Amino acid sequence: MHTLNDELIEKDLKYVWHPCSQMKDYEELKPIIVKKGEGVNLYSVDDKKYIDVVSSWWCNLLGHCNKRISNAVKQQLDTLEHVIFANFSHPKAIELCEKLANLLPVGLEKFCFTDNGSSAIEAAMKMSFQYHYQTGNPQKTRFMALSDAYHGETIGALSVGGVDLYSEIYKPVLLDIIRIQGPDCYRCPFGLNCKNCEAQCINFAQESFKKWGNESCAIVIEPLVQAAAGMKIYSPKYLNKLRKLCDEYNVHLIADEIATGYGRTGKMFACDHAGISPDIMCLSKGLTGGYMPMALAVTTKKIFNAFYAPYSEGKAFMHSHTYSGNPLACAAACEVLNILRDENIIEKAQEKAIYFNKIINEKFSNFKFVGDIRSIGLINAIELVKNKNSKEPFDSKLRIGYQIYKEALKYGVILRPLGNVIYFNPPLIIEKDDMNYVTDVAYKCVKKVLD
Ligand SMILES: *Cc1c(COP(=O)(O)O)cnc(C)c1O
Repeated sequence: MHTLNDELIEKDLKYVWHPCSQMKDYEELKPIIVKKGEGVNLYSVDDKKYIDVVSSWWCNLLGHCNKRISNAVKQQLDTLEHVIFANFSHPKAIELCEKLANLLPVGLEKFCFTDNGSSAIEAAMKMSFQYHYQTGNPQKTRFMALSDAYHGETIGALSVGGVDLYSEIYKPVLLDIIRIQGPDCYRCPFGLNCKNCEAQCINFAQESFKKWGNESCAIVIEPLVQAAAGMKIYSPKYLNKLRKLCDEYNVHLIADEIATGYGRTGKMFACDHAGISPDIMCLSKGLTGGYMPMALAVTTKKIFNAFYAPYSEGKAFMHSHTYSGNPLACAAACEVLNILRDENIIEKAQEKAIYFNKIINEKFSNFKFVGDIRSIGLINAIELVKNKNSKEPFDSKLRIGYQIYKEALKYGVILRPLGNVIYFNPPLIIEKDDMNYVTDVAYKCVKKVLD
């Protein structure tokens, strides 16, 4: 029988080129057509329930179809859907900036709106270059970034990224980046433990700053969690030391909090763990609760002032996106902040995080192919390795993570892996029952694939 689901799948495969996918895989694993979302759950057209334990690529913060966010967007929809953002503004954009300015690390108070994370990174890079150009340092033309970084997919953002899977093939057209060996706590080259080390790996950055600091505009980093690299977590001390280096060499610190912001690490922003203020912070994903594509590059008055001059001096930041400051997205973003405040979401998520991490450790720590379990906030990642002692990884061609993913889908859990790292990064509102269920399913599936 040809069901509605079959028909939709057929048409999907006829037309859609899905992101980050080898489309040939879809011959075997068909796209799941989702008709409805509610809380942490998604419901497919063929009436299966899936727990969205990856927050739909880390953006869904407070559950699907959250009543308060939905109502805020509905209201905005009947008032003003969009307006040009040059020379014009609107109440929700202003409200959002004022609210965020009170929550962000000190000094971040000028808001540049873009419409996705990658383009916020691009804006930050251009802003940093132009700042130095206009303040007597035109020799500063290069960018620094860490190994295993991920900052998005557009050419500039991809250039600062250091995950070969995404960028290798495009190298001939990418910017020439100064790549710094970043923290790697599971395979620490100094044999230290990140819970009590002094971030000795800052040495690699020190050397690069010495050599190239004078010609560098900025270093772009993901504070505390290199998410796309497999939820690699490092010490806040590294951030403190990097902040000092940046000051010493007049290099901007661009904190990409697109994945780490909004309570994902247990605090509002990952930078808060180190108590540092970056020169530019990029936000997206949780910013709108996962409702709308919007992003921000937030910066300081100091940077802003280097662009502030009579028009004839040509110092303006001539950067724009058609959908800059979209009112629907701003309405969602304002309501997200209201909910975080009214419902104490981040504090409560911290209690849940302790529980989640405990049950994951209990289940997985003795399993012979589990090399590392790392966690921060509600993010928990399990790195599967061929050999626990040597930490030798599984051959990526075996697609261990992908097999586990397919298995978990049968039980209605979305465990989309990062290589051989399976991870949980659920909406902050997840409850115990669901944490228990996804942990059990993950264990069952890891065992089935590896044992
Ligand atoms: C997702 C992500 C981006 C890119 O954002 P898009 O909206 O997908 O362009 C950049 N940096 C980090 C850390 C991310 O997780």
